[in-house]
Amino acid sequence: MIRQKIVAGNWKMNGSTESITALVTDLLKAGHSNSEVVVSPSFPYLHLVSTLCAQSDLIKLAAQNVSDKESGAFTGEVSASMLEDFGVKYVLVGHSERRSLYGETDDLVALKIQSLLNKDFTPMFCIGETLEEREAGQTLAVCERQIQAVLSLLGVEAFNRIVIAYEPVWAIGTGLSATSEQAQEVHCGIRAFIAKSSDLVAQRVQILYGGSVKASTSRALFAMPDIDGALVGGASLDAKEFLEIVKAAG
Ligand code: PEP
Repeated sequence: MIRQKIVAGNWKMNGSTESITALVTDLLKAGHSNSEVVVSPSFPYLHLVSTLCAQSDLIKLAAQNVSDKESGAFTGEVSASMLEDFGVKYVLVGHSERRSLYGETDDLVALKIQSLLNKDFTPMFCIGETLEEREAGQTLAVCERQIQAVLSLLGVEAFNRIVIAYEPVWAIGTGLSATSEQAQEVHCGIRAFIAKSSDLVAQRVQILYGGSVKASTSRALFAMPDIDGALVGGASLDAKEFLEIVKAAG
C-alpha cells in the first residue's frame, strides 16, 4: 500500500513573531512537495502561521498539545474546539516531553486523542521507549502498551484517523538518532501489533520516525518500507535543513 509521507516540524517552545515569520516565509518559497509538510508552532503563534500560510496549500498546521476537556475551569489549557478556529489539522499528543515533564499518562493521552477525534483533527500520537527500557529489551512492549491504551478506549478503527510518531526518548534532542535499521524494526513491530486487530488499518496507518532527524540521516530513514516520514524537532527551526528533509521524503 502507498502511504503519503509526512514531514512535520515540532518547534517546541521556540520562536518569536519575527523569527517565525522569517522561517515560514522561507518554507513557502520551496514550492510544491509530494509529501505533507507540517509545522507546529506554540499556541500564541498559530494565528500568525495560519495567516502566513493562508494563500497556499503547501504547509499544514499542527498544535503541540490539547486538553482532554471541552471547556470550563481549566486554567492554562486549550481545548480542541478552540483549535478549530485556527485552521489546525494535526495535534501532537503524548510527546515524551509531555509524558516525562508534565506527567501525562497513557490513559490521559488516549482521552486527548478521543477529544481530537470527536472533532475533525488528526492526532500525531507519539510513542517510544526510554534508553533504560530499550536496554532491558522492552522497546516493543512499551510501544504496545502505549498503543493499547488508545485501542482499549477507541478501538482499532480510530487508527484510520491517527498518525503514529515513533520517537525513542533517548534520541530526542540528543543528536543520537536511531539507525534506519533500528527504526524500521520498531515500525514493523508497531504495524504488526496493529495488524493483530486489523490488517487493513495496519497497512494504512502512517508511522513517522522522530529523534534527532537531520537532512543527512533522513534519506536512509525514508528508504525503509515502514517509515512514512519524520517528526523533526531541532532541525525544523532551520528552513534550509528542514527543506532538505522534505526533499529527501520525495
Ligand atoms: C521532537 O521533539 O519530536 C524531536 C524529534 O526532536 P529532535 O528532532 O530535536 O530530536
